[in-house]
Amino acid sequence: MNPYVQKVLTDLEKRCQHEPEFIQAARLILTSVSPVIDKHPEYEKAALLESLMEPERIISFRVPWIDDQGKTQINRAWRVQYNSAIGPYKGGIRFHPSVTMGTLKFLALEQTLKNALTGLPLGGGKGGSDFNPHGKSDAEVMRFCQSLMNELYRYLGEDTDVPAGDIGVGAREVGYMFGQYKRLKNKFVGVFTGKGLSFGGSNMRPEATGFGLSYLTQAMLKTINQSFNDKRVVISGSGNVAIYAAQKVAELGATVVAMSDSDGYVVDEEGIKLDWLKDLKFSQRARISRYPEMGYGQYFEGCQNIWTVPCDIALPCATQNELSLVGAKALVQNGVIAVSEGANMPTTPDAITYLQQNGVLFAPGKAANAGGVSVSGLEMSQNSLRLSWSREEIDIRLHDIMQNIFKSVQHAAQTYAADPKDYETGANIAGFVKVAEAMMAQGAV
Ligand code: NDP
Repeated sequence: MNPYVQKVLTDLEKRCQHEPEFIQAARLILTSVSPVIDKHPEYEKAALLESLMEPERIISFRVPWIDDQGKTQINRAWRVQYNSAIGPYKGGIRFHPSVTMGTLKFLALEQTLKNALTGLPLGGGKGGSDFNPHGKSDAEVMRFCQSLMNELYRYLGEDTDVPAGDIGVGAREVGYMFGQYKRLKNKFVGVFTGKGLSFGGSNMRPEATGFGLSYLTQAMLKTINQSFNDKRVVISGSGNVAIYAAQKVAELGATVVAMSDSDGYVVDEEGIKLDWLKDLKFSQRARISRYPEMGYGQYFEGCQNIWTVPCDIALPCATQNELSLVGAKALVQNGVIAVSEGANMPTTPDAITYLQQNGVLFAPGKAANAGGVSVSGLEMSQNSLRLSWSREEIDIRLHDIMQNIFKSVQHAAQTYAADPKDYETGANIAGFVKVAEAMMAQGAV
């Protein structure tokens, strides 16, 4: 490894020891970009890597809200404004009890390179809270979102920082936060993406990440003369990304045989019935354990074992570090040919290495799940132009963007990586080069 890269990594491991996910993401990125640093000794003088490994700004605040029993509750929240070299900060807001500042730093770093890969003028950011929306009433969720925005609104703006959804934050939560921003600023501007269609949202934004994941995976499969047709697919999660990935791969001829939530998974050999699953998850906000109620499939407790279900293609679409070495071994044993990440960093580093060493095609999240932020970028353009593109137009643009992302990832892998199919290294390098050039041109600040 390049000595400058090694030094930055060693310092980071000491300084951020309490942020293991951030170190994990940073280590993967720094290791990948080492050959680029070899060619650019000027980056060390400009302390470019030290700059990139430190967010530009983190806002940390409390969120008081009143539950349905009239009791005041307090949650913690953050917005990590990570890097604005390429454009305004852009990245989702996550509500989950596991959220810490370190989680959001890792997500914001990933987002910075992902947004660069899209070719759109978007910087990187991420926000969230340890609030748990499960089991809360609509009124509680609304009060929480409004209170969060009472603090966060002053740091946002259509040209400054434009959040979106993520785990636990869908159209309902985005609507409540956007509504409160509008009240406080008395301005109707595109300060959020993922909004409802009736108030400036983009066609296809809910579907974009899952559809984009399918398009990029399709491009990757093509390199080995394969497609989704007649393939068995396992998808973890049953949220926004997972459900629309399932819909698109089924349209492309695959059979989705298993899906999960954080409690367990269902196997349906005839193919997951998506209308029923959407009703359960989006309308009833119910657990996946209820899937067999209509006489379909079988439910198993424990989400980790989903990777033991035999499949040709696996799409981890739930959360970080959900696919470990044990899962990767089960997938390889059952003959998987491709793993493509819908979630952010769902595959542990040892699992990635194992998959790649066993000839499995691997697409990292920062490339494979970039469809969501790409359509968010299109939503921002539509908002500032005060117009709305059709579903068909957005779908064509999304398809083109995903093809272009795959091409640039492939090109970087062929140029720099020991293995030309190492798309993990390719994605890190392709994203890094764009951010690094913009930072250097702006005085590496
Ligand atoms: P949702 O909240 O809609 O769905 C998340 C799904 O993952 C749910 O089924 C949830 O189960 C499951 N899940 C969450 N946490 C865990 C956990 N700790 N262990 C096991 N399962 C878990 O989120 P999204 O679909 O929006 O996001 C999923 C992933 O995709 C995240 O990594 C996110 O960062 C990433 N992503 C999302 C984008 C988007 O456009 N929404 C864009 C790019 C990336 P349960 O209901 O039981 O909690």
